[in-house]
Amino acid sequence: MSERVIPLVAQRPPALTVPVPAQPAADILPPTDTLGRPLRDLRISVTDRCNFRCSYCMPKEVFDKDYPYLPHADLLSFEEITRAARQFVALGVRKIRLTGGEPLLRKNIEVLIEQLAKLRTPDGQPLDLTLTTNGSLLARKARALKAAGLDRVTVSLDGLDDAVFRRMNDVDFPVDQVLEGLQEAQAAGLGPIKVNMVVKRGTNDHEILAMARHFRGSGHVLRFIEYMDVGATNGWRMDEVLPSAEVIQRLQTQWPLRPLEASAPGETAQRWAYADGAGEVGVISSVTQAFCGDCNRARLSTEGRLFLCLFASQGHDLRALLRGGASDAQVAAAIAGIWQGRSDRYSQLRGARAPDTGDGRHRVEMSYIGG
Ligand code: SAM
Ligand code: SF4
Ligand code: SF4
Repeated sequence: MSERVIPLVAQRPPALTVPVPAQPAADILPPTDTLGRPLRDLRISVTDRCNFRCSYCMPKEVFDKDYPYLPHADLLSFEEITRAARQFVALGVRKIRLTGGEPLLRKNIEVLIEQLAKLRTPDGQPLDLTLTTNGSLLARKARALKAAGLDRVTVSLDGLDDAVFRRMNDVDFPVDQVLEGLQEAQAAGLGPIKVNMVVKRGTNDHEILAMARHFRGSGHVLRFIEYMDVGATNGWRMDEVLPSAEVIQRLQTQWPLRPLEASAPGETAQRWAYADGAGEVGVISSVTQAFCGDCNRARLSTEGRLFLCLFASQGHDLRALLRGGASDAQVAAAIAGIWQGRSDRYSQLRGARAPDTGDGRHRVEMSYIGG
Protein backbone atom coordinates (compact mmCIF):
# COMPACT_ATOMS: atom_id res chain seq x y z
CA MET A 1 0.00 0.00 0.00
CA SER A 2 1.43 3.42 -0.90
CA GLU A 3 2.07 6.12 1.69
CA ARG A 4 -0.56 8.82 1.97
CA VAL A 5 0.96 12.20 1.14
CA ILE A 6 -1.00 15.30 2.10
CA PRO A 7 0.60 18.55 0.91
CA LEU A 8 0.40 21.21 3.59
CA VAL A 9 -0.83 23.99 1.34
CA ALA A 10 -3.57 23.97 -1.26
CA GLN A 11 -2.43 26.24 -4.04
CA ARG A 12 -4.50 28.52 -6.20
CA PRO A 13 -2.67 28.83 -9.50
CA PRO A 14 -2.46 32.13 -11.38
CA ALA A 15 -5.49 32.84 -13.56
CA LEU A 16 -5.47 32.72 -17.33
CA THR A 17 -5.95 36.20 -18.73
CA VAL A 18 -9.00 36.58 -20.93
CA PRO A 19 -8.42 39.09 -23.74
CA VAL A 20 -11.28 41.55 -24.27
CA PRO A 21 -12.83 40.54 -27.59
CA ALA A 22 -13.27 43.24 -30.23
CA GLN A 23 -16.88 44.45 -30.11
CA PRO A 24 -18.67 41.28 -31.24
CA ALA A 25 -21.61 40.95 -33.59
CA ALA A 26 -25.02 41.37 -31.94
CA ASP A 27 -25.80 37.63 -32.03
CA ILE A 28 -23.37 35.06 -30.69
CA LEU A 29 -24.39 31.50 -31.47
CA PRO A 30 -24.41 28.90 -28.69
CA PRO A 31 -20.90 27.43 -28.86
CA THR A 32 -19.76 23.81 -28.86
CA ASP A 33 -16.29 22.74 -27.73
CA THR A 34 -13.61 20.91 -29.74
CA LEU A 35 -15.37 17.60 -28.97
CA GLY A 36 -18.77 18.90 -30.08
CA ARG A 37 -20.13 19.32 -26.53
CA PRO A 38 -22.57 22.18 -25.91
CA LEU A 39 -22.58 24.38 -22.79
CA ARG A 40 -25.64 23.54 -20.68
CA ASP A 41 -24.80 23.37 -17.00
CA LEU A 42 -23.15 26.08 -14.90
CA ARG A 43 -21.93 25.44 -11.36
CA ILE A 44 -21.23 28.55 -9.37
CA SER A 45 -19.15 28.43 -6.23
CA VAL A 46 -20.29 31.21 -3.92
CA THR A 47 -17.78 30.70 -1.12
CA ASP A 48 -14.55 28.80 -0.53
CA ARG A 49 -15.39 28.38 3.17
CA CYS A 50 -17.15 25.53 4.88
CA ASN A 51 -18.21 24.57 8.40
CA PHE A 52 -17.36 20.88 7.73
CA ARG A 53 -13.94 19.33 7.22
CA CYS A 54 -14.78 16.22 5.19
CA SER A 55 -11.39 14.55 4.83
CA TYR A 56 -11.96 13.86 1.11
CA CYS A 57 -12.52 17.56 0.42
CA MET A 58 -11.15 19.94 3.09
CA PRO A 59 -8.86 17.92 5.35
CA LYS A 60 -8.25 19.62 8.69
CA GLU A 61 -4.48 19.44 8.34
CA VAL A 62 -4.64 21.83 5.38
CA PHE A 63 -7.82 23.83 5.93
CA ASP A 64 -6.92 25.06 9.42
CA LYS A 65 -7.25 28.50 10.98
CA ASP A 66 -4.26 29.77 9.01
CA TYR A 67 -5.61 28.74 5.62
CA PRO A 68 -5.67 31.76 3.25
CA TYR A 69 -9.36 31.89 2.32
CA LEU A 70 -10.28 34.52 -0.22
CA PRO A 71 -10.92 37.99 1.18
CA HIS A 72 -14.43 39.29 0.60
CA ALA A 73 -13.36 41.87 -2.00
CA ASP A 74 -12.05 39.04 -4.19
CA LEU A 75 -15.39 37.26 -4.35
CA LEU A 76 -17.75 38.00 -7.19
CA SER A 77 -20.62 40.13 -5.91
CA PHE A 78 -24.18 38.90 -6.47
CA GLU A 79 -24.55 41.46 -9.26
CA GLU A 80 -21.37 40.22 -10.95
CA ILE A 81 -22.47 36.58 -10.63
CA THR A 82 -25.89 37.37 -12.09
CA ARG A 83 -24.39 39.35 -14.94
CA ALA A 84 -22.00 36.53 -15.80
CA ALA A 85 -24.79 33.95 -15.46
CA ARG A 86 -26.95 35.93 -17.90
CA GLN A 87 -24.25 35.62 -20.55
CA PHE A 88 -23.90 31.88 -19.91
CA VAL A 89 -27.66 31.48 -20.31
CA ALA A 90 -27.55 33.36 -23.61
CA LEU A 91 -24.92 30.82 -24.73
CA GLY A 92 -26.96 27.72 -23.89
CA VAL A 93 -26.87 27.16 -20.12
CA ARG A 94 -30.18 25.74 -18.87
CA LYS A 95 -29.25 24.67 -15.38
CA ILE A 96 -27.47 26.57 -12.62
CA ARG A 97 -26.23 24.90 -9.47
CA LEU A 98 -24.95 26.96 -6.52
CA THR A 99 -22.19 25.26 -4.60
CA GLY A 100 -18.98 25.94 -2.71
CA GLY A 101 -17.56 25.43 -0.01
CA GLU A 102 -20.84 25.51 1.81
CA PRO A 103 -23.14 27.81 -0.19
CA LEU A 104 -25.50 28.45 2.72
CA LEU A 105 -22.64 30.15 4.56
CA ARG A 106 -22.65 32.98 1.99
CA LYS A 107 -24.48 35.86 3.59
CA ASN A 108 -27.86 36.70 2.03
CA ILE A 109 -27.63 33.88 -0.51
CA GLU A 110 -31.42 34.24 -0.97
CA VAL A 111 -30.79 37.61 -2.63
CA LEU A 112 -28.59 35.95 -5.26
CA ILE A 113 -31.19 33.23 -5.77
CA GLU A 114 -33.87 35.87 -6.35
CA GLN A 115 -31.72 37.48 -9.02
CA LEU A 116 -30.86 34.20 -10.75
CA ALA A 117 -34.46 32.99 -10.62
CA LYS A 118 -35.45 35.94 -12.82
CA LEU A 119 -33.14 34.89 -15.67
CA ARG A 120 -34.82 33.47 -18.77
CA THR A 121 -33.49 31.41 -21.66
CA PRO A 122 -33.57 33.02 -25.12
CA ASP A 123 -36.95 31.32 -25.71
CA GLY A 124 -38.35 32.68 -22.45
CA GLN A 125 -38.07 29.60 -20.21
CA PRO A 126 -36.98 29.73 -16.56
CA LEU A 127 -33.79 27.93 -15.60
CA ASP A 128 -33.44 24.83 -13.50
CA LEU A 129 -32.02 26.45 -10.35
CA THR A 130 -30.57 24.21 -7.71
CA LEU A 131 -28.07 24.14 -4.85
CA THR A 132 -25.79 21.54 -3.26
CA THR A 133 -25.42 21.75 0.51
CA ASN A 134 -24.09 19.77 3.44
CA GLY A 135 -27.52 20.34 5.00
CA SER A 136 -26.25 21.79 8.26
CA LEU A 137 -28.15 25.08 7.87
CA LEU A 138 -30.99 23.78 5.76
CA ALA A 139 -33.61 23.39 8.50
CA ARG A 140 -33.26 27.10 9.20
CA LYS A 141 -33.09 28.28 5.59
CA ALA A 142 -35.24 25.96 3.47
CA ARG A 143 -38.35 28.14 3.37
CA ALA A 144 -36.47 31.35 2.56
CA LEU A 145 -34.60 29.55 -0.24
CA LYS A 146 -37.84 28.31 -1.76
CA ALA A 147 -39.47 31.73 -1.43
CA ALA A 148 -36.49 33.27 -3.24
CA GLY A 149 -37.06 30.98 -6.23
CA LEU A 150 -34.81 27.96 -5.68
CA ASP A 151 -36.27 24.87 -7.38
CA ARG A 152 -34.46 21.99 -5.70
CA VAL A 153 -31.63 21.03 -3.37
CA THR A 154 -29.06 18.25 -3.33
CA VAL A 155 -27.95 17.30 0.16
CA SER A 156 -24.66 15.56 0.89
CA LEU A 157 -24.89 12.87 3.54
CA ASP A 158 -22.19 10.25 4.02
CA GLY A 159 -23.88 7.96 6.53
CA LEU A 160 -26.79 7.57 8.93
CA ASP A 161 -24.84 6.26 11.86
CA ASP A 162 -24.13 9.30 14.02
CA ALA A 163 -20.58 8.25 14.91
CA VAL A 164 -19.69 7.57 11.27
CA PHE A 165 -21.23 10.85 10.14
CA ARG A 166 -19.44 12.89 12.82
CA ARG A 167 -16.16 11.28 11.78
CA MET A 168 -16.76 11.97 8.10
CA ASN A 169 -17.56 15.66 8.62
CA ASP A 170 -14.70 15.85 11.15
CA VAL A 171 -16.31 18.69 13.11
CA ASP A 172 -18.53 16.43 15.23
CA PHE A 173 -21.72 17.59 13.50
CA PRO A 174 -24.73 15.39 14.41
CA VAL A 175 -26.57 13.54 11.67
CA ASP A 176 -29.99 14.39 13.14
CA GLN A 177 -29.65 18.03 12.17
CA VAL A 178 -29.04 17.12 8.53
CA LEU A 179 -32.02 14.76 8.57
CA GLU A 180 -34.10 17.62 9.99
CA GLY A 181 -32.81 19.83 7.17
CA LEU A 182 -33.97 17.23 4.66
CA GLN A 183 -37.43 17.20 6.20
CA GLU A 184 -37.70 20.98 6.14
CA ALA A 185 -36.52 21.09 2.54
CA GLN A 186 -39.14 18.54 1.58
CA ALA A 187 -41.84 20.46 3.44
CA ALA A 188 -40.77 23.69 1.76
CA GLY A 189 -41.19 22.09 -1.70
CA LEU A 190 -37.49 21.90 -2.63
CA GLY A 191 -37.92 18.42 -4.11
CA PRO A 192 -37.34 16.03 -5.66
CA ILE A 193 -34.34 16.06 -3.34
CA LYS A 194 -31.15 14.27 -4.27
CA VAL A 195 -28.98 12.88 -1.48
CA ASN A 196 -25.29 12.42 -2.34
CA MET A 197 -23.14 9.93 -0.45
CA VAL A 198 -19.42 9.83 -1.18
CA VAL A 199 -18.32 6.26 -0.57
CA LYS A 200 -14.86 5.60 0.86
CA ARG A 201 -13.97 1.95 1.13
CA GLY A 202 -13.20 1.05 4.72
CA THR A 203 -14.61 4.33 6.07
CA ASN A 204 -18.34 4.43 5.32
CA ASP A 205 -19.08 1.67 2.79
CA HIS A 206 -20.77 -0.34 5.56
CA GLU A 207 -23.45 2.40 5.56
CA ILE A 208 -24.52 1.75 1.95
CA LEU A 209 -27.39 -0.61 2.70
CA ALA A 210 -28.64 1.39 5.70
CA MET A 211 -28.71 4.53 3.55
CA ALA A 212 -30.56 2.72 0.75
CA ARG A 213 -33.07 1.27 3.20
CA HIS A 214 -33.70 4.70 4.75
CA PHE A 215 -34.25 6.55 1.48
CA ARG A 216 -36.11 3.85 -0.47
CA GLY A 217 -39.68 4.95 -0.90
CA SER A 218 -39.00 8.42 0.59
CA GLY A 219 -39.23 10.28 -2.70
CA HIS A 220 -35.58 11.38 -2.27
CA VAL A 221 -33.10 10.05 -4.83
CA LEU A 222 -30.00 8.63 -3.17
CA ARG A 223 -26.81 8.68 -5.25
CA PHE A 224 -23.57 6.95 -4.38
CA ILE A 225 -20.50 8.88 -5.56
CA GLU A 226 -17.13 7.30 -6.16
CA TYR A 227 -14.44 8.96 -4.07
CA MET A 228 -12.53 11.14 -6.55
CA ASP A 229 -8.94 12.27 -6.89
CA VAL A 230 -10.07 15.88 -7.06
CA GLY A 231 -7.83 18.61 -5.64
CA ALA A 232 -4.40 17.95 -4.24
CA THR A 233 -4.90 17.70 -0.50
CA ASN A 234 -7.11 14.71 0.26
CA GLY A 235 -4.40 12.05 0.00
CA TRP A 236 -6.54 10.11 -2.50
CA ARG A 237 -5.75 6.45 -3.08
CA MET A 238 -7.37 4.10 -5.56
CA ASP A 239 -7.72 1.38 -2.92
CA GLU A 240 -10.21 3.62 -1.08
CA VAL A 241 -12.49 3.88 -4.12
CA LEU A 242 -15.41 1.48 -4.05
CA PRO A 243 -16.44 1.01 -7.70
CA SER A 244 -20.09 1.80 -8.39
CA ALA A 245 -20.52 -1.67 -9.89
CA GLU A 246 -19.85 -3.07 -6.44
CA VAL A 247 -22.37 -0.68 -4.88
CA ILE A 248 -25.01 -1.92 -7.30
CA GLN A 249 -24.11 -5.55 -6.55
CA ARG A 250 -24.51 -4.92 -2.83
CA LEU A 251 -27.90 -3.25 -3.36
CA GLN A 252 -29.04 -6.10 -5.60
CA THR A 253 -28.47 -8.60 -2.78
CA GLN A 254 -31.38 -6.91 -0.98
CA TRP A 255 -33.54 -5.34 -3.65
CA PRO A 256 -33.69 -6.20 -7.38
CA LEU A 257 -32.93 -3.18 -9.56
CA ARG A 258 -33.50 -2.35 -13.20
CA PRO A 259 -31.55 0.26 -15.16
CA LEU A 260 -33.27 3.51 -16.19
CA GLU A 261 -32.52 5.78 -19.14
CA ALA A 262 -30.58 8.99 -18.48
CA SER A 263 -33.07 11.81 -17.92
CA ALA A 264 -30.89 14.39 -19.70
CA PRO A 265 -27.85 14.34 -21.99
CA GLY A 266 -24.63 14.75 -20.02
CA GLU A 267 -26.20 13.47 -16.80
CA THR A 268 -23.58 12.40 -14.28
CA ALA A 269 -25.54 9.62 -12.55
CA GLN A 270 -26.46 6.20 -13.85
CA ARG A 271 -30.03 5.69 -12.68
CA TRP A 272 -31.62 2.51 -11.38
CA ALA A 273 -35.19 1.77 -10.27
CA TYR A 274 -36.12 -0.54 -7.41
CA ALA A 275 -38.08 -3.33 -9.09
CA ASP A 276 -40.66 -3.24 -6.27
CA GLY A 277 -41.59 0.35 -7.10
CA ALA A 278 -39.80 1.99 -4.12
CA GLY A 279 -38.32 4.69 -6.34
CA GLU A 280 -34.93 5.42 -7.79
CA VAL A 281 -31.28 5.20 -6.78
CA GLY A 282 -28.18 6.30 -8.68
CA VAL A 283 -24.43 5.92 -8.90
CA ILE A 284 -21.88 8.46 -10.06
CA SER A 285 -18.89 6.55 -11.37
CA SER A 286 -16.46 9.39 -11.99
CA VAL A 287 -13.44 7.16 -11.46
CA THR A 288 -14.35 3.76 -12.92
CA GLN A 289 -16.59 4.85 -15.80
CA ALA A 290 -15.78 8.25 -17.16
CA PHE A 291 -18.63 10.35 -18.53
CA CYS A 292 -16.60 13.08 -20.23
CA GLY A 293 -18.06 12.23 -23.65
CA ASP A 294 -21.07 14.48 -23.20
CA CYS A 295 -19.87 16.66 -20.32
CA ASN A 296 -21.59 20.00 -20.73
CA ARG A 297 -20.57 21.54 -17.39
CA ALA A 298 -18.71 24.78 -16.77
CA ARG A 299 -17.66 26.00 -13.34
CA LEU A 300 -17.37 29.55 -12.11
CA SER A 301 -15.13 29.82 -9.06
CA THR A 302 -15.76 32.04 -6.05
CA GLU A 303 -13.47 34.72 -7.45
CA GLY A 304 -14.86 34.57 -10.97
CA ARG A 305 -12.58 32.18 -12.81
CA LEU A 306 -14.09 29.94 -15.45
CA PHE A 307 -12.99 26.30 -15.18
CA LEU A 308 -13.76 23.89 -17.99
CA CYS A 309 -13.28 20.69 -16.00
CA LEU A 310 -13.43 19.64 -12.36
CA PHE A 311 -9.82 18.56 -12.69
CA ALA A 312 -8.55 21.66 -14.48
CA SER A 313 -5.43 23.25 -13.09
CA GLN A 314 -6.19 26.77 -14.30
CA GLY A 315 -9.20 29.00 -14.68
CA HIS A 316 -9.97 31.88 -17.03
CA ASP A 317 -10.23 35.23 -15.28
CA LEU A 318 -13.75 36.45 -16.09
CA ARG A 319 -13.72 38.79 -13.10
CA ALA A 320 -11.13 41.00 -14.79
CA LEU A 321 -13.53 41.36 -17.73
CA LEU A 322 -16.54 41.99 -15.51
CA ARG A 323 -14.69 44.62 -13.51
CA GLY A 324 -12.73 46.03 -16.42
CA GLY A 325 -15.48 47.69 -18.42
CA ALA A 326 -16.22 44.94 -20.98
CA SER A 327 -19.75 45.04 -22.38
CA ASP A 328 -22.17 42.12 -21.90
CA ALA A 329 -21.66 41.16 -25.55
CA GLN A 330 -17.90 41.13 -25.04
CA VAL A 331 -18.19 38.96 -21.92
CA ALA A 332 -20.45 36.55 -23.83
CA ALA A 333 -18.05 36.46 -26.78
CA ALA A 334 -15.13 35.76 -24.45
CA ILE A 335 -16.98 32.86 -22.78
CA ALA A 336 -18.01 31.47 -26.17
CA GLY A 337 -14.40 31.61 -27.39
CA ILE A 338 -13.08 29.87 -24.27
CA TRP A 339 -15.73 27.13 -24.57
CA GLN A 340 -14.92 26.62 -28.24
CA GLY A 341 -11.32 25.88 -27.29
CA ARG A 342 -12.26 23.29 -24.64
CA SER A 343 -10.84 19.79 -25.00
CA ASP A 344 -10.89 18.63 -21.34
CA ARG A 345 -11.73 15.00 -20.59
CA TYR A 346 -9.70 14.23 -17.53
CA SER A 347 -11.63 11.19 -16.29
CA GLN A 348 -11.44 9.50 -19.66
CA LEU A 349 -7.68 9.95 -19.72
CA ARG A 350 -7.15 9.12 -16.03
CA GLY A 351 -6.83 5.39 -16.69
CA ALA A 352 -4.20 5.97 -19.35
CA ARG A 353 -2.06 8.06 -17.01
CA ALA A 354 0.50 6.54 -14.67
CA PRO A 355 -0.61 6.91 -11.05
CA ASP A 356 1.19 9.38 -8.80
CA THR A 357 2.75 11.28 -11.67
CA GLY A 358 2.50 14.37 -9.55
CA ASP A 359 0.13 16.20 -11.88
CA GLY A 360 -2.39 16.36 -9.03
CA ARG A 361 -0.26 18.82 -7.14
CA HIS A 362 -1.52 21.74 -9.19
CA ARG A 363 -5.19 20.86 -9.37
CA VAL A 364 -7.53 23.29 -7.67
CA GLU A 365 -9.56 22.24 -4.67
CA MET A 366 -13.18 21.19 -4.97
CA SER A 367 -14.18 23.57 -2.17
CA TYR A 368 -12.92 26.45 -4.33
CA ILE A 369 -14.10 25.40 -7.76
CA GLY A 370 -17.44 23.93 -6.62
CA GLY A 371 -18.55 20.30 -6.83
N1 SAM B 1 -20.58 21.82 0.81
C1 SAM B 1 -21.56 21.37 -0.10
C2 SAM B 1 -21.79 19.88 0.02
O1 SAM B 1 -20.96 19.19 0.64
O2 SAM B 1 -22.79 19.41 -0.50
C3 SAM B 1 -21.30 21.73 -1.55
C4 SAM B 1 -19.88 21.65 -2.05
S1 SAM B 1 -19.19 20.01 -2.10
C5 SAM B 1 -17.58 20.34 -2.73
C6 SAM B 1 -20.09 19.31 -3.47
C7 SAM B 1 -20.10 17.81 -3.55
O3 SAM B 1 -18.80 17.35 -3.81
C8 SAM B 1 -20.56 17.08 -2.29
O4 SAM B 1 -21.62 16.21 -2.60
C9 SAM B 1 -19.34 16.32 -1.88
O5 SAM B 1 -19.66 15.14 -1.23
C10 SAM B 1 -18.62 16.11 -3.18
N2 SAM B 1 -17.19 15.84 -3.03
C11 SAM B 1 -16.25 16.60 -2.43
N3 SAM B 1 -15.04 16.02 -2.49
C12 SAM B 1 -15.21 14.85 -3.17
C13 SAM B 1 -14.33 13.79 -3.57
N4 SAM B 1 -13.03 13.79 -3.28
N5 SAM B 1 -14.87 12.77 -4.27
C14 SAM B 1 -16.18 12.74 -4.58
N6 SAM B 1 -17.06 13.71 -4.24
C15 SAM B 1 -16.58 14.74 -3.53
FE1 SF4 C 1 -17.57 21.21 3.04
FE2 SF4 C 1 -18.97 20.07 1.15
FE3 SF4 C 1 -16.33 19.89 1.12
FE4 SF4 C 1 -17.64 18.58 2.99
S1 SF4 C 1 -17.78 18.23 0.77
S2 SF4 C 1 -15.85 19.86 3.33
S3 SF4 C 1 -19.35 19.91 3.35
S4 SF4 C 1 -17.49 21.71 0.87
FE1 SF4 D 1 -16.43 16.77 -17.33
FE2 SF4 D 1 -13.87 16.98 -16.61
FE3 SF4 D 1 -15.53 15.44 -15.19
FE4 SF4 D 1 -14.76 14.69 -17.66
S1 SF4 D 1 -13.45 14.91 -15.87
S2 SF4 D 1 -16.86 14.64 -16.84
S3 SF4 D 1 -14.65 16.71 -18.70
S4 SF4 D 1 -15.66 17.69 -15.44
